[in-house]
Amino acid sequence: MSKNRDDFSEPTKRNLARRVNYKCSFPECLKPTEGPHTDPNKYLSVGVAAHISAASETGPRYNEDLSEAERKDITNGIWLCETHARMIDKDAKRYPVETLNEWKTISEGIALKELEGIKAEEKVANPILEAEIRFASGGQTNNGFNFAATFKEHGGKGPISPLQKLYNFTQHWHYQLVIYNNSTKPAFNIQLNNNSPLTYIEKVSKVNNLAPLESMKVDIHLDKPFVGMGKDSSKIIKAFVPKDLIDKTVELKYLNENRDEIVSILTFEEDGISNKVLVSKDEE
Ligand SMILES: [Zn+2]
Repeated sequence: MSKNRDDFSEPTKRNLARRVNYKCSFPECLKPTEGPHTDPNKYLSVGVAAHISAASETGPRYNEDLSEAERKDITNGIWLCETHARMIDKDAKRYPVETLNEWKTISEGIALKELEGIKAEEKVANPILEAEIRFASGGQTNNGFNFAATFKEHGGKGPISPLQKLYNFTQHWHYQLVIYNNSTKPAFNIQLNNNSPLTYIEKVSKVNNLAPLESMKVDIHLDKPFVGMGKDSSKIIKAFVPKDLIDKTVELKYLNENRDEIVSILTFEEDGISNKVLVSKDEE
C-alpha cells in the first residue's frame, strides 16, 4: 500500500475553483466546469482540483521535498476540467510544474478581468480583398510608317505594297481593376504595387478604406510599342490579356483594424487574374 494521499481539503478545492470562476485553467480550454443537474437540488460538476505536484509518491510530478502541508496547500493545486486533469497526469513530462503554474496565473488573470468587466481581447479577423479585371478599351494606334524597319525587312527591293509596309504601332489594353472586400471586416490604406509591365495604375488616395462587401475601381493600362504589319498587330491585340502580362503580378497591400498588413497577390492569367491572400506569419 502506498502512503496516504495528501488530498486537498474541501475549502481548498472550493477556493481553487472560485479563483478561476469554475473554469478549466488549461488556457486553450477555459470551459465552465459547473452547471445544473436534473435534480433541482444538485449541480453537475466536471471540475477537478488537480495536484500540481502529486499527492502520493507514485504520482506525476511528485516532489519529495514538499511537506505534507505544502502538498495539501492551495499553491499546489490547479482547477481543471476532467479531461485536462487526466491529460496533465498522463504525460507529466509534457506538463511540468512550471507550465501548470503558468496556466494558473493566466486563468486567474482572465477570471479577474472578467470580474472587473473587461472583455478579453478579441482576435481581429482579417479583411480579404480580391480583384478582377474588366476590359475597358483596347486596340492599336498607328504612329506611322517605319522606313528603317521596312527597308531591313525587304532589303529596299520594291515595289512594296502598302500591306507589306511596317508601321509603328502602340497597342493598348485598358482595364478596370475591380477590388472587392470579400469579408465582414474593413480594409484600410489600400496600396497597389506594380510588379508587372503595366504602364499605368490609377493612383488611389493615400488614406482610404474599403468597407465590408464594398468594391472600388482602379484603371490600369498596358500600352506597348509594336513594329510590324497591321494584321500582325491586330492578331496580338485580340488577346484579352497579352502574353507580356501573363504570370506577372500586382500586389494589393492593406491593413486590418489592428494595422497588421495583409497582401493579396493578383496574378494575370489568360482570361483574367487570380488572387492569393497572404497574411503575415505572426497572424494566423
Ligand atoms: Zn479543460
